[in-house]
Amino acid sequence: MAPSHAFRCCKRALNWTPVLFINLVIGWSYYAYVVELCVYTDSICCVFSTVSYLVVFHLFFAMFIWSYWKTIWSKPAKPSVAFALPSAEKELYEREQRAEVQQEILKKVARSLPVYTRTAGGAVRYCDFCQVIKPDRCHHCSTCEMCVLKMDHHCPWVNNCVGFSNYKFFVLFLTYAALYCAVICATVMQYFIKFWTKQLHDSHAKFHILFLFFVAALFFISVVSLLGYHLWLVGKNRTTIEAFRAPVFPNGPDKNGFSLGFRRNVVEVFGDQAKYWICPIFSSQGDGHSFVTRLVHIDPEQANTVLQQNGKMLVSFFFPTMLK
Ligand SMILES: [Zn+2]
Ligand SMILES: [Zn+2]
Repeated sequence: MAPSHAFRCCKRALNWTPVLFINLVIGWSYYAYVVELCVYTDSICCVFSTVSYLVVFHLFFAMFIWSYWKTIWSKPAKPSVAFALPSAEKELYEREQRAEVQQEILKKVARSLPVYTRTAGGAVRYCDFCQVIKPDRCHHCSTCEMCVLKMDHHCPWVNNCVGFSNYKFFVLFLTYAALYCAVICATVMQYFIKFWTKQLHDSHAKFHILFLFFVAALFFISVVSLLGYHLWLVGKNRTTIEAFRAPVFPNGPDKNGFSLGFRRNVVEVFGDQAKYWICPIFSSQGDGHSFVTRLVHIDPEQANTVLQQNGKMLVSFFFPTMLK
């Protein structure tokens, strides 16, 4: 086995460590709640309340695991072959040494593609590693070693890229993780207080229940902060990358370039059928290669005026060829 190959295998295995850690915490929390609290702790004397606790707990547990699983195992979507250079242009591009001539080749190919964003310097965004013209909102992930459509970020806790194929699942994962922790905190609180005030006798369950409350509260605070940030991003139709660096359109950078108003922004991620919003089933709109923008079909000078109007004006977006 070549050393570089062995190194990559080790790196891949190591990347699963945070996922393993999270799974161990989830597994332990399940044991602590179901076995130590609901079965061993004699303080829950009422069968009805025990069953109610277990039903609610399992409901949120199932949704949490389902969305977590989907976030981990959804393959990141990559650009289609339409974004690769045709063989003749590719040959020319690779032979050419002058960057400006290479740009001309890319511009010629990009004219037939729905690509409107550029690099900060105004060049066509091209990935030399994947050898594709990057679609709008697509970025190269160095961990996944591929270009990912509507890339948000690479998340070590799911060992996967969060992007077009799983962003909805990721937001649901955070939502159900927060609810799972909230259910644990809310129901364990009374036993936590009883143990603390010595109203319940010492037992082996005490350690698990005290620790369960602390861990659930800690995770709840962290997850809710992250969830709040991502809900804000969904409302603004921005990815984490775009929140840090505004996408550059032919008229310049515009952090609201993809924003279509709160309702349409939410629908773009969660789909237009509300019944699918709470389930980790893919329902995001579009194909991840092109996105509705609010400025691209109007004249550049007009666009500048619209930009100055604080993003209130939404413009329809069909066949935005004028700004290319
Ligand atoms: Zn790439
Ligand atoms: Zn990645």
